[in-house]
Amino acid sequence: MYNVKAYSATSDTSPLAQTTIPRREPNERDVQIEILFCGICHSDLHSARNEWSEWGATEYPIVPGHEIIGRVTKVGSAVTKFKPGDLAAVGCMVDSDRTCNACKEGLEQFCPNNTLTYNSPDKHLGGVTYGGYSESVVVDEHFVLRVPSNLDLASAAPLLCAGITTYSPLRHWGVGKGRKVGVVGLGGLGHVGVKLAHALGAHVVAFTTTPDNKEDALRLGADDVVVSRNANEMERHAGSFDFILDTVSAQHDIDSYLALLARDGTLTLVGAPPKPLAVSAFALIGGRHSLAGSTIGGIAETQEMLDFCGEHNVTADVEVIPIQKVNEAYERMLKSDVKYRFSIDMASLRD
Ligand code: NAP
Ligand code: ZN
Repeated sequence: MYNVKAYSATSDTSPLAQTTIPRREPNERDVQIEILFCGICHSDLHSARNEWSEWGATEYPIVPGHEIIGRVTKVGSAVTKFKPGDLAAVGCMVDSDRTCNACKEGLEQFCPNNTLTYNSPDKHLGGVTYGGYSESVVVDEHFVLRVPSNLDLASAAPLLCAGITTYSPLRHWGVGKGRKVGVVGLGGLGHVGVKLAHALGAHVVAFTTTPDNKEDALRLGADDVVVSRNANEMERHAGSFDFILDTVSAQHDIDSYLALLARDGTLTLVGAPPKPLAVSAFALIGGRHSLAGSTIGGIAETQEMLDFCGEHNVTADVEVIPIQKVNEAYERMLKSDVKYRFSIDMASLRD
């Protein structure tokens, strides 16, 4: 075991502050990574503030962070994919049981015994796992991803959650040429979703509550932008979408999006508002609409997404901040006051 500096919250109301956490010495199949950048996901905020307590309470202290990019500093004797000096990335999972049907199909995100990157029982050290708001991390090589060398590291870090969480459902529901796709919410997930849907060849419409986002959404790859608070703009698209990806983090009216689906269209939630959303039966039955959900993606698909982003030059638009500004960044994220993802420069923790 060795100790590293990290940022943690000690209760649902306390701000994040510097602390020290243990990491294990790399085992045979482990990769030790010095963390260079870590994105700030809205899930970090939901978890730090215990907003999802009904689905699993947060254990304190919590060290959030699951959009991790860094450099390999040490590898175990059986590691074949990485060597010291390589770039490496870690997303939302660091382990799974590898024996269940989900794991056998490469869908580790659905393994009932998977280990999430933070706030999940730690099989090695006891307690819970600690995430990427820290100097380094030690992860089994199966859960470590390769980073395409052409991508800017600060902007690529958010792909590890925002990228895979939008890529996986876009692929699963067959988004591509000839399909009309909506992306709701132009935050961390949504703005990457717009870029990916565009790169996949779809006709993309971005929905935002922030009128100032209009020009940006077109620049990001949207073919059209709708300010969702404007009923007339919504009405123009009634009954026309094959697929809508909803990334919204808070209460909102999903019936108004179901009304925009074509017959047999699907609205998929990836956003995870803490409180249940209301849905009217009539918004579903009239057009044989489907309401679905999706969570991150498997490890093989995460690598596929990173390679796709390398080929198509897709990364997040980021504001790079020192870790000392993380609490301010949480407040700004709540106000959609970031274009469009915060990426923490972890050198600030080593200073
Ligand atoms: P984010 O950067 O804060 O973006 C959320 C966006 O939702 C905002 O930018 C805003 O977009 C819109 N929004 C926020 N409040 C709203 C409201 N009251 N009504 C309508 N729209 C609203 O968050 P994120 O990091 O992208 O995460 C989004 C959600 O996905 C979170 O709940 C997060 O926990 C969840 N998530 C799920 C997974 C998964 O695997 N399923 C993975 C990662 C994250 P506009 O300003 O454009 O309106
Ligand atoms: Zn996330």
